[in-house]
Amino acid sequence: MTSASNPLPLAIVGAGQAGARMAAALRKQGWQERILLLGEEPETPYERPPLSKEVLAKRADPLVGRIYPPDWYAEHDVELRTGCRVAALEPSARRLTLESGETLAWDTLVLATGCRARRLALPGAELEGVLTLRTAGDALALRERLRPGARLVLIGGGFIGLEVAASACSLGCDVVVLEARPQLLERALPRRIADVLTVRHRREGVELRLGVGVAGFEGEGQVRGVRLADGTLVEADAVVVGIGGQPNVELAAAAGLACEDGIRVDGTCQAGAKVFAVGDCARFDDAWSGRPVRLESWENAELAPQAAAKAILGRPEAYGGLPWFWTDQYDLNLQLLGLKQPVEQEVLRGDPDSGSFCLFGLVENRIVTAALVDAGRERRPVKQLIEARGPVDPLALADLDTPLKQLAKGR
Ligand SMILES: Cc1cc2nc3c(=O)[nH]c(=O)nc-3n(C[C@H](O)[C@H](O)[C@H](O)COP(=O)(O)OP(=O)(O)OC[C@H]3O[C@@H](n4cnc5c(N)ncnc54)[C@H](O)[C@@H]3O)c2cc1C
Repeated sequence: MTSASNPLPLAIVGAGQAGARMAAALRKQGWQERILLLGEEPETPYERPPLSKEVLAKRADPLVGRIYPPDWYAEHDVELRTGCRVAALEPSARRLTLESGETLAWDTLVLATGCRARRLALPGAELEGVLTLRTAGDALALRERLRPGARLVLIGGGFIGLEVAASACSLGCDVVVLEARPQLLERALPRRIADVLTVRHRREGVELRLGVGVAGFEGEGQVRGVRLADGTLVEADAVVVGIGGQPNVELAAAAGLACEDGIRVDGTCQAGAKVFAVGDCARFDDAWSGRPVRLESWENAELAPQAAAKAILGRPEAYGGLPWFWTDQYDLNLQLLGLKQPVEQEVLRGDPDSGSFCLFGLVENRIVTAALVDAGRERRPVKQLIEARGPVDPLALADLDTPLKQLAKGR
């Protein structure tokens, strides 16, 4: 049991992954005061990565990624309120208002409001069957429609769109992916890796249409197709709009906090006096890259709360590290270290035809990015190599007979 000396709680707005981890990090680091965790979703906090993968493809429980068992919150003196939307914040009065009209006072505030799925403001966007995927409820609604033979159109060849495509394909749906750019995942992936995904999806029977614009949705009540900019109709029983996330910053912006594609925080996740922000919703001064960064990743939702907890407990440390992201499509696992940036040289390690290989991006003989295709076992040495920021021999890097562990040890 904790021994609160302050009757006013630390309030966390948003009970997703970062919100739940925030409460846990505070307790683990010795915070004795009250913690209030307010989330608008009806479920106790859960992780989202399974939603586009096993929840669709294997009909797994949408809460398979539950962060803690329901009893955990009371056991750790965390006052969790689900189905509870915060409607307004007043940082100067240290008060917030719930959608129900109830007002609550707080001593310290952490915003962990995450993202929502970006929508397309096009004719017909309100038709039934035009869906997005962010929540457990979204995954269940989509899963209902993924029957064998159902025609599913995905708008956006990003990570979520492609994971849904793979899951739907494995369930026997007819899948079409519409991507505006000439390459899948152009902002995130080097061409060679995008090509691996392109080939794999086509081999599985997904129709990938690259470089196409969408003009609107057709149907009466229920969507029946997607009208392309060139006038073609792509028939659909369901459509998933997967064009990225939009950070939930409106509460913070209305309360006068600085926002620019994310709630602006410093290098310790602090947005203002006794106000912090973590996870998908925050743009932080990143200690790794030395610039402001907003990350939509599982890893950032795990780590930023630990940094914020340190700052709240008066032991601030610079936050930021080499970003890591993964995606699973079919039986293919892709892991990315570092954010896409211009590179001077690409070094391939392993044979792409073997199905398992790494692609490194180098600047001045230093590795700045790595993509591991079915080579997750190499993640640790690769991370060490990148974090060392030292020069590597590109020939040794490409040589399968030189273990990466050995190269990393030499740092
Ligand atoms: C389908 C899917 C698959 C993914 N797969 C991967 C993957 O393979 N690898 C990877 O690294 N990342 C993946 N991600 C990204 C990862 O899940 C997110 O980065 C992570 O969930 C971010 O956590 P968060 O707590 O910041 O935001 P969220 O998990 O979105 O939580 C924010 C919570 O705040 C609540 N909220 C917002 N406003 C209010 C309010 N006013 N009042 C009360 N509550 C509010 C929201 O309802 C939500 O519950 C995936 C995401 C999705 C959607």
